[in-house]
Amino acid sequence: MQINGKVKLPKGKKIAVNIGTDFDAHSVWMGAFDLTTPAYMHRGEFGAEVGAPRLLKLLDKYNIKGSWCIPGHTIDTFPEISKEVVKRGHEIVHHGYAHENISKLTYEQEEKVLQMGLEALARIGVKPRGYRSPAWDYSPNTLKLLEKYEFEYDSSLMGNDLHPYRPRMVEVNMDKANVFSPPSNILEIPVSWYLDDFPTQELVLGGVEGLTSPDVFFDRCKAIFNYGITNEEGACFILTTHPQTIGRAHMLPKLEEFIQYMEYHGAWFATLEEIYENYYEEVEVKAKIPSLKV
Ligand SMILES: [Zn+2]
Repeated sequence: MQINGKVKLPKGKKIAVNIGTDFDAHSVWMGAFDLTTPAYMHRGEFGAEVGAPRLLKLLDKYNIKGSWCIPGHTIDTFPEISKEVVKRGHEIVHHGYAHENISKLTYEQEEKVLQMGLEALARIGVKPRGYRSPAWDYSPNTLKLLEKYEFEYDSSLMGNDLHPYRPRMVEVNMDKANVFSPPSNILEIPVSWYLDDFPTQELVLGGVEGLTSPDVFFDRCKAIFNYGITNEEGACFILTTHPQTIGRAHMLPKLEEFIQYMEYHGAWFATLEEIYENYYEEVEVKAKIPSLKV
């Protein structure tokens, strides 16, 4: 059975909300789509030069500290704005080097990009406690590598939606039941494609359609948020934004409205680190049943 738990919330708050930012800039087009023509590089540049400063300004306005998942490649290509994110007090999370699809890499290749990401983060003075896979997927070696490099939490998987849990690897068998590994000590703070701004918005020719009304995305976010505050205790709501998507002129005001809505309805805006620090698992207390007299 999955081991999952709750987040201890400050008094009066109903849910932990993480505004996460995958600051991919050029690297998502290179690593995830193999698109390196000027049009895509300029879309990445928009994210770094226009979208990120706008998003930082909005977060400052509401005094919200978020979690910025920054590939090493973004740090090396756009060092000034990457340093600015650190300076504003946001959490920085490891997000690969050039947005690699790690599920396709060998152990050695994956370890190499993990190290390259760590080295780039060190160049802006960061030692991350958390990891987010650029592919939002694992290889068979990812969990072992995260344990080896002493990461404390991950935010890449989807085995729960509103609660952190202890991830297990799965041995896949076509002729018998799949077998779970023991749960990891690394805490999984799950992401969700449903709470990611990218797929509904970004047009990728021959790939993702995007270009829907922002309401499609924010209505769904609101429905998930409302379920969390109504039906779940100690839940967390993990939003994923991308500066090149959320930073657009038609998106940012919608994010602001949504922040106001969540604040009004009891959101505790927290970093992934704060969610990790306040996570707990309830110990099941089994009442002693007196033996029956026959
Ligand atoms: Zn990314």
